[in-house]
Amino acid sequence: MMSRVYLVGAGPGAADLLTLRAARLLAAADVVLHDALVSDDVLALAPQAVKIAVGKRACRPSTAQRFINKQIVDAARKYETVVRLKGGDPMLFGRAEEEISALEEAGIEFEIVPGITAAFAASAQLQTSLTRRGLSRSVAFVTPRVGVDETESQWSQVAAAADTTVLYMGGREIAKIAQELIAKGRDASTPLAAVENASAPDARSWLGTLGSADAVGAVLSDGPVLLIVGEVLRDCAVAEVVPGLIAAARAA
Ligand code: SAH
Repeated sequence: MMSRVYLVGAGPGAADLLTLRAARLLAAADVVLHDALVSDDVLALAPQAVKIAVGKRACRPSTAQRFINKQIVDAARKYETVVRLKGGDPMLFGRAEEEISALEEAGIEFEIVPGITAAFAASAQLQTSLTRRGLSRSVAFVTPRVGVDETESQWSQVAAAADTTVLYMGGREIAKIAQELIAKGRDASTPLAAVENASAPDARSWLGTLGSADAVGAVLSDGPVLLIVGEVLRDCAVAEVVPGLIAAARAA
């Protein structure tokens, strides 16, 4: 049997933000191994397939990545068309390279299908471009998350230097992140947005400043959160009002 594994980007959540290629592969899949963040609406596009949840979520019982790699390889030995569905884009903060190495070692053919990353869903939600002529010529995708046994990260230097910074996996540490960026030279009045569940019907977004990050953190619930920092957000009019925050961001 010639199996093929497709590492497919599931996009930020809304099923109609999948690519046509992803939808076609889901309809043809024998098995779908999916992250916890992949929505039921997306999985509904593969009614015929066996579904295996393999995702990891912060603060939840996690499945070790090595075990996930093994599950993918095992699935490819059993089924012909294997879809490994990953949130957003598979090649951004998705540990795709570890899954790719496992597939290469096992001699299994694979293909990558890109998806819409959370940063783009969040900037759409905020109706705010991440770049702006004369104001923002650089965008950094950053995560402050450092795994156990990993070498220390220089995330905050890069995050402080970019015109616009998008932070993945940072919602729970928003206050610490803001402090760190201020320590690295960003002004406390720099606008900060938090977008929760971007692209979903229950999406919410808030606007504050690095200096008011505590208050922004206090209104977040437990969905996936993306943080965006930068002057491009100063005129953002669609984020929700946490009392005082928008006014503070505008006045600064
Ligand atoms: N590969 C994914 C990112 C995986 S890391 C991508 O390209 O989007 C997981 C982090 O992505 C979460 O902690 C959160 O910061 C962010 N994220 C994913 N989906 C999101 C959504 N719908 N809204 C807000 N943030 C999201």
